[in-house]
Amino acid sequence: MGSATERCESCGGDATDVVPVHRMYVTPAAWDTEEKIQVLDEVERWCSPCRTHYPHQEVD
Ligand SMILES: [Zn+2]
Repeated sequence: MGSATERCESCGGDATDVVPVHRMYVTPAAWDTEEKIQVLDEVERWCSPCRTHYPHQEVD
């Protein structure tokens, strides 16, 4: 048995540091709208590179 890996639901890769997160959608502000941030209720499991590159909120 090696160290346990888990499938990342964002990139589909296997990693040892996958943690539960809520995906966030960030709409940048434009001249006529304010920045909009939507946090999904659904829990996904992401590896560390995906957590570095994509907006998310870690699950407590
Ligand atoms: Zn990933």
